[in-house]
Amino acid sequence: MLRRGGFRPRAEKISCSATKGGPDVTTAAETTARVKEHVDSLAPALLDLSHRIHANPETANEERKASAWCADLLRSEGFEVTMPVAGLETAFRARRGSGRPALAFLAEYDALPGVGHACGHNIIAASALGAGMALARALEEAGLQATVLVDGTPAEETTSGKLVMVSAGLYREVDAVLSMHPEAEDAVGGSCLGVARLSFSFKGRAAHAASSPDKGVNALDAAIQTFNNVNALRQHTRSDARIHGIITDGGKAVNIVPDFARCEFGVRSVDLGYLKELLEKVKNCARAAALAAGAGLDIQETPICEPIKENRTLTRLTLEAMAEVGRRADDRTGKHFPASTDFGNVSQVVPAIAPMVKAAPEGTVLHHPDFAAAAASPQGDAAVVAAAKVLAIVGLRLVLEPETLKEAWSDFTGGAPATAGT
Ligand SMILES: [Zn+2]
Repeated sequence: MLRRGGFRPRAEKISCSATKGGPDVTTAAETTARVKEHVDSLAPALLDLSHRIHANPETANEERKASAWCADLLRSEGFEVTMPVAGLETAFRARRGSGRPALAFLAEYDALPGVGHACGHNIIAASALGAGMALARALEEAGLQATVLVDGTPAEETTSGKLVMVSAGLYREVDAVLSMHPEAEDAVGGSCLGVARLSFSFKGRAAHAASSPDKGVNALDAAIQTFNNVNALRQHTRSDARIHGIITDGGKAVNIVPDFARCEFGVRSVDLGYLKELLEKVKNCARAAALAAGAGLDIQETPICEPIKENRTLTRLTLEAMAEVGRRADDRTGKHFPASTDFGNVSQVVPAIAPMVKAAPEGTVLHHPDFAAAAASPQGDAAVVAAAKVLAIVGLRLVLEPETLKEAWSDFTGGAPATAGT
């Protein structure tokens, strides 16, 4: 996908360019050091924010406190905050600076029902703010021109706020997007699975299950047959595919032929084209089952959370920034994480990266209460500070090195010019 507008990354005000097209080495080193110092001086406020969000878990689209706290802290740093954005009550965009490049740091803050911040989104919020605020300070001190954006992106776990924000065109005039996700290891690069959910509602006809079964149309049979068809399909799918389902309605009483049944499936693949193919095949499983049972069928489908589009240049910069803060991250280029995120859709419209930053003891799994505990532990706090530095350093390099930003766009477009189209 191409973006609207010209490609105009600039770092015009930098005092002296010692190397051809590159930044002055001293200025780059000094500004990088300043970025890190700013994160350190912001750390108490960032960790306070992380702990407050963690102690007040709000589920998807209910993140009123978290989004307001983030917005307040950004305003206190001179950011101009627009909230709501894209019609999402708990989404915001904060802006400081002007001109290009425009870099966006993404803050998530929704919790999971029952297990609180077991996905550690409090860490994502605090580190995105830390990166944006530290970078904006350092750029201003160095007289460098750029726009720093910090976006509050709600409901990652359910309705995928980023999908709505992408559709609203919020990333059309953005040159790169940087975010992170806490994990039990440090890792950079790689993709994830795209996912969409399908919901099948079968309409049958009720009848006495013993005295007049021949008068009934069994909607539950259609749901069960759908699972059988999907099970047969599974042996012929690619190894990266995942199809997992539940029955949410299956009848009211054993002596009534079920006149209504409903089931839901998650369908995933790392390949967007294949995912679309698979979605059609799973729908056919339900259509065939409805036909066999003589039941009516209504199909509901969510928008697709797309796989992450890898960016070699941003992966390299992020690995180098990880090393700069003393973390040896695994390079996951060409591999994929078997889960899904709405960050994938952002990465399909603009060069983007979201490294995994170690915030929990090895082996701790996401969405488990142990991860929630780690997300506010000293290890979780260290991840906030490290990730803020890493993202700010990557951002700084994109401002200082217009050629590197161009390279990231060339990776993104596969060599096609980055200036055309929308
Ligand atoms: Zn998450």
